[in-house]
Amino acid sequence: SYRKGGYHAVRVADQFAGGRYIAQRKLGWGQFSTVWLAYDTHSSSYVALKIQKSAAEFVQAALHEINVLSSIGDGGPANSKCVVQLIEHFKHTGPNGQHLCMVLEFLGDSLLRLIKYNRYKGLPLNKVKEICKCILIGLDYLHRELGIIHTDLKPENILLFSTIDHSKDPCRSGLSPIIERPEGNINGGVTSLIEKRLKRRARRAVAKISLRDSLGGAGEAPKSARNIDGIDVRCKIVDFGNACWADKPLAEEIQTRQYRAPEVILKAGYSFSVDMWSFACIAFELATGDMLFTPKGGGQGFCEDEDHLALMMELLGKMPRKIAIAGAQSKDFFDRHGDLKRIRRLKFWPLDKLLIDRYKFSEKDAREFSEFLLPLFDFAPEKRPTAEQCLQHPWLNCLE
Ligand code: ADP
Ligand code: MG
Repeated sequence: SYRKGGYHAVRVADQFAGGRYIAQRKLGWGQFSTVWLAYDTHSSSYVALKIQKSAAEFVQAALHEINVLSSIGDGGPANSKCVVQLIEHFKHTGPNGQHLCMVLEFLGDSLLRLIKYNRYKGLPLNKVKEICKCILIGLDYLHRELGIIHTDLKPENILLFSTIDHSKDPCRSGLSPIIERPEGNINGGVTSLIEKRLKRRARRAVAKISLRDSLGGAGEAPKSARNIDGIDVRCKIVDFGNACWADKPLAEEIQTRQYRAPEVILKAGYSFSVDMWSFACIAFELATGDMLFTPKGGGQGFCEDEDHLALMMELLGKMPRKIAIAGAQSKDFFDRHGDLKRIRRLKFWPLDKLLIDRYKFSEKDAREFSEFLLPLFDFAPEKRPTAEQCLQHPWLNCLE
């Protein structure tokens, strides 16, 4: 992918925007871009630099994302506090072409990493509630004030404010930023000050990690969840590459499989409520450590889509016939009675029972959590509560 039209290769200490931003280390990457931690020499702070691939289609996608992010910023910092902020954007020319670059506020690890860090045991419900509130505040702002549907909500796309491993967090580690350029190399070897400094840093980081592990018991109790009590769980919604205005849907097939709403599978049209479905899937995953729906396709005579619909109905009850047959794709999966064509026997396992039987929730916790989630899993999209309504729910507002 590091060729013409593809990613821009970055080295530590590379400069961008006329020397304003200096690359520190890679934070992550996606299909369209690489994201680097960069030091902003103007504000003396850290930012995330998203460098898009350079081919025309990626430039188009980046322009769209910049457009969406700019409208988010227009709402003012108070309104957009649970949604990532775009600081500026510019073009950067390199050997592989011209790359659009977005300067974003620097955030920490994703919820996916938090779930992994907790060893897939599910987070304490109070933490789940705090995270849910942040996501809902962000969604309420996007939906009600901006008319934007995110369309790809999932744990990877919700970032915490800080990193779990503080030895990697430049804001907390106390390490100074790298600002020198690597010097030219003599005799083919990279002999710059930079490399030496990087090695020194890496050694210090490793020392801190092993210290944390010996205190936190990573080696002693591999099966038990880590203590995440000390982690401040405020978060923000990121990745607006697929977001759209509700009155101008971009694509028919949206959302990542496990977080996809039934109306998207049936191609029955969609609106803001697709984000509410994904949100409910995320809430379940945070509380249990498991994805709620993991359909499998092929082999047994039915496809992934039909399996997905079957899993939904096993958990939530039969889809009303009217809804089942209303999509452009309905005939592929449902007969005219509203029964699945190939998966004839469903094993119903309602949500509260699942929480008690498999995840050992108390009856009270299971009942209260189900009462919060089930309305969000309404097969009728227009009946799902809005983010604004969800924020009023008693489950979110009673911390124990
Ligand atoms: P893509 O559109 O290519 O999928 P994303 O916007 O999802 O790119 O970013 C890719 C990865 O970069 C994310 O999964 C995350 O790890 C990291 N990342 C993105 N934005 C930030 C940010 N503001 N702060 C810190 N890390 C980020
Ligand atoms: Mg992404």
